[in-house]
Amino acid sequence: MIKLINEMLEMEKNKALSDVEGNKRVILLAEDNEANIETFNSYLSAFGYEIMTANNGMQAIEIATTATIDLILMDIQMPIMDGFEAILILRKEPKLDRVPIVALTALALVGDRERCLAAGANEYLSKPVKMKLLVNTIRELLGET
Ligand code: MN
Repeated sequence: MIKLINEMLEMEKNKALSDVEGNKRVILLAEDNEANIETFNSYLSAFGYEIMTANNGMQAIEIATTATIDLILMDIQMPIMDGFEAILILRKEPKLDRVPIVALTALALVGDRERCLAAGANEYLSKPVKMKLLVNTIRELLGET
């Protein structure tokens, strides 16, 4: 029981900061794998983030240009439009040229990291992503540390 309470307190302490109006920070998750969406969604929701999901790069651009997004998690391998192309397009949008983007890839080819960063991603994480590392990266990019 004590352990559970301690864990809950720890969770509360680690929750994401809200913006000045007290709204949750919104993360756009662009990912085509349902199992990954589920995992990321439950984990990040528990940390106090609001998650919006897109299943391909095209949808990601649609959502990012119409909603207010604090950060984007961009899978690279997606159908219709991949993450590279989506990042390149997003970076040309004046409204989105500074939104932090974390590229995620299972490919992990040599040069992948450089390619993602050159396209305009702020960070690159290879899958499988350790959830703790993901949250730390997000918090750092959102200035929550
Ligand atoms: Mn994918």
